[in-house]
Amino acid sequence: MSSINAGRRTSSRRRNMQSADVIIIGSGIGGASIASALAPSGAKILILERGGRLVDSAEARDDRAIFQRGHFRSSETWIDNEGRRFRPGNFYNVGGNSKFYGAVMYRYRSEDFEPREHEGGLAPGWPIAYADLESWYCKAERLYQVRGSVGKDPTEPLHSEGYPHPPVPNEPAIARVAERLAAQGLHPASLPLAIDHVKWLDRAKTPWDGFPDTRAGKIDAETGPLAEALQHSNVTLLENAHVVRLELDAAGKRVAYAVVRVRDEEQRIYAKTVILSAGAINSAALLLRSTPATKSSGMANRSGQVGRNFMNHNCTAMLAIDPRHPNDSIYQKTLGLNDFYLSDGAGGGPLGNVQLLGKISGPILKANLPAIPEFALRAIARHSVDWYLMSEDLPRPESRVVVDGTDIKLDWQRSNIEAHARLCTKMRTVLRAAGFPIVLAKAFDKRAPSHQCGTAVMGVSGSNSVVDIWCRSHDHDNLYIVDASVLPTSAAVNPALTIAALALRAADHMLRSVSSNATNDVASTFGATR
Ligand SMILES: Cc1cc2nc3c(=O)[nH]c(=O)nc-3n(C[C@H](O)[C@H](O)[C@H](O)COP(=O)(O)OP(=O)(O)OC[C@H]3O[C@@H](n4cnc5c(N)ncnc54)[C@H](O)[C@@H]3O)c2cc1C
Repeated sequence: MSSINAGRRTSSRRRNMQSADVIIIGSGIGGASIASALAPSGAKILILERGGRLVDSAEARDDRAIFQRGHFRSSETWIDNEGRRFRPGNFYNVGGNSKFYGAVMYRYRSEDFEPREHEGGLAPGWPIAYADLESWYCKAERLYQVRGSVGKDPTEPLHSEGYPHPPVPNEPAIARVAERLAAQGLHPASLPLAIDHVKWLDRAKTPWDGFPDTRAGKIDAETGPLAEALQHSNVTLLENAHVVRLELDAAGKRVAYAVVRVRDEEQRIYAKTVILSAGAINSAALLLRSTPATKSSGMANRSGQVGRNFMNHNCTAMLAIDPRHPNDSIYQKTLGLNDFYLSDGAGGGPLGNVQLLGKISGPILKANLPAIPEFALRAIARHSVDWYLMSEDLPRPESRVVVDGTDIKLDWQRSNIEAHARLCTKMRTVLRAAGFPIVLAKAFDKRAPSHQCGTAVMGVSGSNSVVDIWCRSHDHDNLYIVDASVLPTSAAVNPALTIAALALRAADHMLRSVSSNATNDVASTFGATR
């Protein structure tokens, strides 16, 4: 869609000044989820998305194109904490990173909302409890049509509703692995997944983890909530609209407009309410670049916490190889194991989550192990069952995103690596006992900030957090941050469902505040103050 419906072009003088009741910056999990919940209000909602729609192509199911050539990555580079440039695995398109996600839609465990001691330090807990989010998790599971079952995972928190669809079936080789793990007294359970696997396999027989969804079965931000939001005539999506900064009003209290680059032309877009959903790294970068003239530390940053507390899970790929039996799975990604999530099972602290990866192939391995011949890697992949081990990264102010002109510097200070190393050791033992004599492991590196979060954390006080418990900026009444930035802790499960649940909860609060302030014109009062 190339025109802005939400504002009106009245004269050439105003050509570069548009307006909407609400602008949402980014159409990923946070932005699309909140758009779907605000859409029925009738407010004029304009979604500004830096990228375009993914189109179907041969590359969409080509593991060499995706993993070796980085076909879908942007050419953007960031700088790491040693000053080296790298091309991050961060995607700019309608639907954001969720177009590439593995579609695992775990809830945080109820213990994740409480302070908890880890080997690497304290996870501080949340300013809200699991119970405050539970009904929103149910709604998010319906919105993303999650497939799953409750009852097998000992860490599963209370579900007041079951999953809307039964779980994606294990392929035969994976069903056998589940039996071998259960025989050791472990509790392998089906992964909650936002995928219509039949539709996905109809397009091509590939896994979906890391593969782009060209509207072929994943329920991601675009095919789920965004599609729902765009059914309302008051919601417009503007593609290829890169927000470069936000500007405050003359009093310095409220966000007045966004400066947006559309086809090399800068426009101002005014809004009563601004929702920032550009993802944890880009939302922080945008706020840091939106420095009011009187300050040097960025917008919404009275606490000094914008960009700080950057977290990304500690992750390792672990290949369990049984040379006697090939693994003929196509998608593989249906099982998870949380036996070491709350404790190490021997009186020690939490270690993390274990889940299957999408089936690894020779070309995928080659992207990570370029020195080894592909024929050897193909032989390994034919016999391996491929796991993803994930441990909590703890919030630390020195782990941060900073901007330097147009550059993003990602100074990720990993934490809790001790616990992750112990999870890897545990899993080696478990997998060997399950009949896999060879176990290989490789840590994910910094170029894959897939589970980025924490750069604008939620909290009660404006002195040490960026947004309140409704995702509203402590400093600016009409600014909301609704994406992975606000997560106070990373837990050790995939973040998307929690981001979606928070977005739905924030939308409900916004609509309630509006209706308690308004007579009956929701759209005209959308910017009502606290
Ligand atoms: C390969 C891969 C696999 C993953 N698998 C899983 C999984 O199985 N389960 C899970 O829970 N999570 C998974 N994730 C993580 C998940 O995708 C993210 O947690 C989630 O998408 C984050 O949501 P968000 O709203 O914070 O940001 P995003 O969904 O990334 O959305 C941000 C959006 O903002 C846009 N944007 C950025 N800057 C600007 C700007 N300046 N102006 C306008 N628009 C802008 C971007 O283009 C993007 O569309 C995976 C991620 C990757 C990369």
